[in-house]
Amino acid sequence: TLTAGVIALQGDVSEHVTAIEHAGSRHGETVEVLEVRESGQVPECDVLSMPGGESTAISQFIHREGIASEIVDHVNAGKPLLATCAGLILAAQDAQDSRVETLDLIEVSVDRNAFGRQKDSFETNLQIRGLDEPFPAVFIRAPSITEVGEGVEVLAEHDGRVVAVREPPVVGTAFHPELTGASQIHDLVFFESDLPPQ
Ligand code: GLN
Repeated sequence: TLTAGVIALQGDVSEHVTAIEHAGSRHGETVEVLEVRESGQVPECDVLSMPGGESTAISQFIHREGIASEIVDHVNAGKPLLATCAGLILAAQDAQDSRVETLDLIEVSVDRNAFGRQKDSFETNLQIRGLDEPFPAVFIRAPSITEVGEGVEVLAEHDGRVVAVREPPVVGTAFHPELTGASQIHDLVFFESDLPPQ
C-alpha cells in the first residue's frame, strides 16, 4: 500500500485523490489517501501532492500548522512531490511576492499570475516530456516559470513559457493536471519517476 498525502486546505483535493487512485490501479497498487490538514500526517506519506488554490492562503496555512517543514523533510528524504499551480508557487525558490513564503524545493522563479486573471483560464493539449500523448492541461490564473536553475529539467512549455519542470523528486506544473479525469502526470510522478536522461 502506498500512502499518498494531498495538502488539503483548499483546491481540488478530491480530484487529486481520484487521479492518484487511478494511477495506482494501473500499477496494481492500493493507495491510501491522507488529506493533510495538520502536522504529523506528512511523515506518514510515501508521496505528496500540493494542489492549486491561493498561494498566499496556503503559505500561511502550512507555515502556521507546522506542515511546511514536514514537506521540506519529505523532499529531502527523496520522496516524490507533485506541486501544481499554487503548489508550484510554494515549491519555487522565489515567487517575487512577500506574502508567499516559498519552500525552495525547486530552483525556479515564478510569476504568480502570468497567465492573467480568472477569466483567462483555458485548456490546451500540451506535449510533456515523458508522456506519449498530448496532455489536457487546464490553466487557471496560472503562474509561469520565469527562471530555471541548472539542475532543473523543463518538461513542457506553452507559448514560449515554461509550464512544467522537474527537479527530482519534485515535479511542478503551472497548470492543473487533475481536472479533466486524466492521471498520466500523477502516474509519471508517483509511479514511474525514472525518466530517461534528457
Ligand atoms: N495564481 C494563483 C496564486 O497565486 C494560483 C492559481 C491556481 O492555483 N489555480 O495563488
